[in-house]
Amino acid sequence: MSRADTTERELTAGLFLGSSTTQAYRTAMEQAHQAVTDVYLERATPYSGRSPEQLAFEDREMLPEEGQGLTATIESVAQTVVANSVGTSHPACVAHLQCPPMIPALAAEVLISATNQSLDSWDQAPAATVLETRLIEELADVFGYGDDADGVFTTGGTQSNFMGLLLARNRVLDERFDHDAQVDGLPPAADSLCILCSADAHFTARQAAAQLGLGESAIVSIPTDEHHRLSIDALDSTLTELADSDRQPFALVGTAGTTDFGSIDPLAQLGARAREHDLWFHVDAAYGGALALSDRHREKLRGIETADSIAVDFHKLFYQPLSCGAFLLRDGTHYRYIDRNAAYLNPESDDAAHLVSKSVQTSRRFDALKPYIAFRTLGRDGFGELIDYTLDLATAVAERIEDDPAFELKHEPTLNAVVFRYRPPTDSEEAINDRIRDRLRADGTAMIARTTIDGETCLKFTLLNPRTTVDNVEEILTAIKRHGMALSTGERTEYTRGTKR
Ligand SMILES: *Cc1c(COP(=O)(O)O)cnc(C)c1O
Repeated sequence: MSRADTTERELTAGLFLGSSTTQAYRTAMEQAHQAVTDVYLERATPYSGRSPEQLAFEDREMLPEEGQGLTATIESVAQTVVANSVGTSHPACVAHLQCPPMIPALAAEVLISATNQSLDSWDQAPAATVLETRLIEELADVFGYGDDADGVFTTGGTQSNFMGLLLARNRVLDERFDHDAQVDGLPPAADSLCILCSADAHFTARQAAAQLGLGESAIVSIPTDEHHRLSIDALDSTLTELADSDRQPFALVGTAGTTDFGSIDPLAQLGARAREHDLWFHVDAAYGGALALSDRHREKLRGIETADSIAVDFHKLFYQPLSCGAFLLRDGTHYRYIDRNAAYLNPESDDAAHLVSKSVQTSRRFDALKPYIAFRTLGRDGFGELIDYTLDLATAVAERIEDDPAFELKHEPTLNAVVFRYRPPTDSEEAINDRIRDRLRADGTAMIARTTIDGETCLKFTLLNPRTTVDNVEEILTAIKRHGMALSTGERTEYTRGTKR
């Protein structure tokens, strides 16, 4: 008898899902859940304060010769990795667009990974393919698209922005140059192509230009107005200048929610300019797209329905765990610009819907199940209220900062990002805002972000968490002043790691 016959039971004991291993599965999941509840959620501070050097795991073999068993491994991961992970659900974790994941989506993750459907072809994910398709239809409707719309779930804004610009590039080469970029690559004339976006657009527009063979120099950056929105006057004069040059704009990227300020470009006006100048209009709504669910704030997205394509992220203001985004296309027939058939996945003879042809990925997770479960659980109203709360919180925090002479508010928040500076009582300390942020992380008090405006370092709160209150933020502001005072007077402060606040 071969080894394959005799040792099957021993080889797989407790490793794979089956009717005989349900207990092993439950035990493993229970231990993982306990690591979350007992180690991660019980921690008093949003970070342990450990430095990269302290996290080197030098005593740990990554691939030991002999297995240590699951129980011991999870236990050690809980103490070393989970204990030193950023507390994304902690009310004082207010740094980046990294959301506290909501519980319905965490339950969805269990179903997604256990069933392991792959969204590339229908036969690998029958119900999942249909559900994702239906959800895309519904989302298209939420953003004001009609019945011709299409789209696909993505890893996030980076991939969705890439897809928008990929379709835009292939379309312009087809329509203006009668050139098939899919087959023949870039023609010499592609040197003249350029993409317009605001100076505050996400860096992934530039990255996509590079990846698409147009080069970063294909980006024409339009100045912003005093609210950090793309300036229409500047756009108009740029379009006039370009018309007299040998450069050809083919795409216009609008941003609905810039990463730093949450600013929303004047989308309706951008849409009108795009139509007038035959530009593909892509809206990067990775951050601000969630406003579509808010009765109070939806109006801020007016004009998004005129976009040829939209990027929206569910792992930001929709509170889904990473990663989860969508790419939406106003006219689904535009997918023809990236048509591709693999005989074993989506042969031309096959009528079934194979989502591989709508994505730049092949094997793909069933991430659509997360927002589906969350939407069904909360409804539009429930989501809208969460979003409204965090926008109100940002307004309240901005007022509080403005009233305090120790701070300088840098803008009125549009979404839930608040950018400000600590004003040192003396000019002695140059990098004081940077150092305050580092100290808050090191003593575990709060995770906050920094950004640079006109060469000046500023601090940033991204108030995504609906469990964060004005009082929580008040405590962070007090800590900022305490550190700021200590740093600017050169006084030594003693601070203890991980003390309960
Ligand atoms: C986060 C973000 C991106 C990048 O999206 P990922 O989901 O991180 O890939 C792009 N644009 C904007 C405006 C963003 O906020």
